[in-house]
Amino acid sequence: MTDPIRPKPGILDIALYEGGKAAVAGVANVIKLSSNENPFGPSDKAKEAFLRSVHQIHRYPSTDHASLRHAIGDVHGLDADRIICGVGSDEIIHLLCQAYAGVKDEVVFTEHGFLMYRISATAAGATPVEVAERERVTDVDAILRACNRRTKLVFVANPNNPTGTMISAAEVERLAEGLPSQAILVLDGAYAEFVDGYDGGAALVDRRSNVVMTRTFSKIYGLGGLRVGWGYGPRAIIDVLNRIRGPFNLSNTQQEVAEAAVRDQDFVTRCRSENAKMRHWLALALAELGVPSDTSMANFILARFASATEAEACDLFLQAQGLIVRRVSSYKLPHGLRITIGDESSCRRVAHAIGQFKGMK
Ligand SMILES: *Cc1c(COP(=O)(O)O)cnc(C)c1O
Repeated sequence: MTDPIRPKPGILDIALYEGGKAAVAGVANVIKLSSNENPFGPSDKAKEAFLRSVHQIHRYPSTDHASLRHAIGDVHGLDADRIICGVGSDEIIHLLCQAYAGVKDEVVFTEHGFLMYRISATAAGATPVEVAERERVTDVDAILRACNRRTKLVFVANPNNPTGTMISAAEVERLAEGLPSQAILVLDGAYAEFVDGYDGGAALVDRRSNVVMTRTFSKIYGLGGLRVGWGYGPRAIIDVLNRIRGPFNLSNTQQEVAEAAVRDQDFVTRCRSENAKMRHWLALALAELGVPSDTSMANFILARFASATEAEACDLFLQAQGLIVRRVSSYKLPHGLRITIGDESSCRRVAHAIGQFKGMK
């Protein structure tokens, strides 16, 4: 007998999201380079705000996040009325799918794209549509060919994860311009801050009625554990998302810490330049060992091995030394290892260990 209590169609097809590993059995003092976290943690200003926030913890939080939205608006030169804040940018992705995509609708994303697009689309009852990339780079023409009357959302992370590659502003604009009229382009800017001078697509949002940008405090701000992200879009779309957002989705603590973090742009600038320096160093060191990677614009590199077997063996070798990187088979990159850019000593240790691994064969 089948159980008469059943979830809506599609929900049992969702594979649980697996975060980056944080421990290795039997190994103490691991270095976690598997979740694109900031090796320096959050700014001191954010930590101070966290401690201060304890005094307000008996109060319900602001439901409209006005103070945080205005801080984000001030720092980025954006209209605060068209910003929405969520429990990570994951929640913004989820709200977009819930509000705009349902049964018989299609949600488009790229081959090696972020797993949450598929999960949120499926949870909404919509059909996920995966589009091939060209040599690990988003292919605008392929995306446009995949769109049709049923396409409601197109997700593109730029820079992309786990490839680290990026397409130009002109290509993004061509994509937005070419979409069917009922479709929204969602530009996921989780790694935008790592690209010097890049606005994450904010100017394109301002010029168009079919583009939404998502951003996060989880990556350069070093606040992945706090869970705060935000979106910026046309007024009509932000209004729709707010109607289905839980009114108390963000605690006082989340709002206050994120506000302190966004106001500390000196910290962001230091992290960006340190990341760029060590990313360049690590990519070069690995290339000299015969492990190539595409030029990354984010805070990780996708190291490519000769085969899935070699990538797996290297992963196990690194783990035995307490170095945790990310297998990316679930992103259809079985011969790759995604390595978050750590501090200088972590980068040196990873390069040294991969050198030992390569030398053993
Ligand atoms: C890390 C990441 C996010 C951020 O998720 P949060 O929910 O904000 O922590 C979003 N998109 C991509 C592509 C990411 O890699």
